[in-house]
Amino acid sequence: MDDFTKIINLDFDHNIIGNKRVNTVNSPEYNASTILFDSHEDMMLAENGKYTGIYYGTNRMPNSRELEESLNILENASLTRIFPSGISAIRHVLLSFLKSGDHILVCDNVYGPTKLLCRLFLSKFNIEADYIPPDAQNIEDFIKENTKAIFLESPGSITFEIQDMDKIVQTAQKHNLITIIDNTWATPLYFKPLEKGIDISIQSITKYISGNSDILMGSVSVNEKHAAHFDKYYSLMGICCSSKDCILALKGLKTLKIRLKEHEQNAFFLASWLEGQKIVEKVLYPALKSHPQHDLYKRYFKGSSGLFGVILKKEVSPEKITTFLNSLNLFGLGFSWGGYKSLVSAGRVKRDCFCEYDQRIIIRISAGLEDKEDLKNDLENALKKIS
Ligand SMILES: *Cc1c(COP(=O)(O)O)cnc(C)c1O
Repeated sequence: MDDFTKIINLDFDHNIIGNKRVNTVNSPEYNASTILFDSHEDMMLAENGKYTGIYYGTNRMPNSRELEESLNILENASLTRIFPSGISAIRHVLLSFLKSGDHILVCDNVYGPTKLLCRLFLSKFNIEADYIPPDAQNIEDFIKENTKAIFLESPGSITFEIQDMDKIVQTAQKHNLITIIDNTWATPLYFKPLEKGIDISIQSITKYISGNSDILMGSVSVNEKHAAHFDKYYSLMGICCSSKDCILALKGLKTLKIRLKEHEQNAFFLASWLEGQKIVEKVLYPALKSHPQHDLYKRYFKGSSGLFGVILKKEVSPEKITTFLNSLNLFGLGFSWGGYKSLVSAGRVKRDCFCEYDQRIIIRISAGLEDKEDLKNDLENALKKIS
């Protein structure tokens, strides 16, 4: 059966009224700190960790479980758990799998706050991080005796380099490293990391999964090898997402398949058009033939989502870029992406490893669901102001 047929038909609604089930299409919202037991015997089972039902508010309400199960199906994972934000998911993966004295390899193009976490937070626990080039294929030389894990983001959500995942997984397995990927850009629809031998896949649900810019949430999907450990860790940490947010995420998720296609088409149209503009030096979008790793993109990804980067010619001053951004009417100026409204942001690339775009300003465009001609006209008008 198709994954979306399964997700749409998941059954997490068990309210009984008048001996009959209240069989609503959408699950009811469960708000609870406290769960009432049928008997003291059940309560004692819960006390001893043997109760099979939900025993407390932090034990993942039905809405959380429905969202977890849906993502678990899409990621083809053994276990999926959700977190109050994407960065929270990332932090908990690092803390659960690393210990004092360990070393982690981090791809240099990861989401900025991921890098900050590694630099400013892991060091407090005596965990060391080294950064590897975003287009790394051979990671053998970077591995140390205490290397425990490798963190990938493919493509990176600022500069869009793609890692050769098969090669990295091969080397990682040889050295018994845990492989982790931030899979937010592709979503599990366009790339399923665990099917490629990667151990852990992370989503910022905030982006395409929810798709409405109305919630913050993250998920972690792990393979069988790491499921028991991560389940235990999660249950000890008291992590909790609101049922209301889970319902919003589920509502978004159920239309992901059709939304993502439209985001992709709009982005491809805009990226192709921008590439032909005189003022543009480069468009960073893996689906374009001009992308330096277009062959890897075709090998690994079923499709391309709606986020891409644009670099204007060197002679365009930062002030002109500001004028360009301020002249846009349809694109909101915002730091997120993956929602129905098109967004734009701009920032200077700062890298540890060599990067040809280091110190250049990248304009990052999240193509939303507006009409593509309208979006193009908006970009065209704003570019005219600075040409
Ligand atoms: C936004 C983002 C995150 C963090 O997600 P939040 O839910 O905003 O904390 C992680 N990774 C990538 C690639 C992102 O774009």
